[in-house]
Amino acid sequence: MDNYRVVADLIKEKGYVVAFTGSGISVDSGIPTFRGGQGLWEKYDPMEYAHIDAFRRNPEKVWNMLREMAGVIFAAKPSPAHVALSELEKKGFLKAVITQNVDGLHQTAGNSTVIEYHGNHRRLVCVGCSAKVDFTEAEARMLPYPLCERCLSPLKPDVVFFGEPIPMLDMIRANEEAKKCNVMLIMGTSGVVYPAADLPYLAHSSGAKVVEINIDDTPFTSSISDFVFRQNASIVLPKILEYIGT
Ligand code: ZN
Repeated sequence: MDNYRVVADLIKEKGYVVAFTGSGISVDSGIPTFRGGQGLWEKYDPMEYAHIDAFRRNPEKVWNMLREMAGVIFAAKPSPAHVALSELEKKGFLKAVITQNVDGLHQTAGNSTVIEYHGNHRRLVCVGCSAKVDFTEAEARMLPYPLCERCLSPLKPDVVFFGEPIPMLDMIRANEEAKKCNVMLIMGTSGVVYPAADLPYLAHSSGAKVVEINIDDTPFTSSISDFVFRQNASIVLPKILEYIGT
């Protein structure tokens, strides 16, 4: 039996699936990864543009990059991997998506329970009073950068910059889902960004089967992955769905 069928049967039998996703699954949607150093990140050094200290020092400079990033994100469409995860939820197996991505594409694809470990670029937050507002085009166009209406501090996308903590509530929810699931699907993540990378270990130690779908080896591969697909999730997931059937 091939692994596709085995994993499909596992999902049907176990029934409580949680997906843990990283930037690799949004590459097909046209969003470059930090680590790949592609697209936007050829031009902008992440440590210079995605660090909270850099933002506080010079919001105007960082907003030049953020506007460009927003353009990329708002133009992006869900990849076949995003769509397949949404199908898996509709079939009743996928209970939550924990994502390190900030592009909001899981919601666009139709997933309802999405825990955003690193926030969402489609929302803005005030660095002064923490007020949150939608990243509307109007706000993004405010020059030289958008300000909070309440306290006039700079607004930044509601994403976790380097040097910022993970939002506590999302971390707690993610840990709960990792402990609760019977099958964890890991995809498009290098597995080296902590504390997010702890989640698959937590799932494994709580008894879940770990299914890894990644083009490259990760620290999970030789330690906790029960099944490994060395291919793009946009190819693997639709195939697993076919085996699950209707
Ligand atoms: Zn404010």
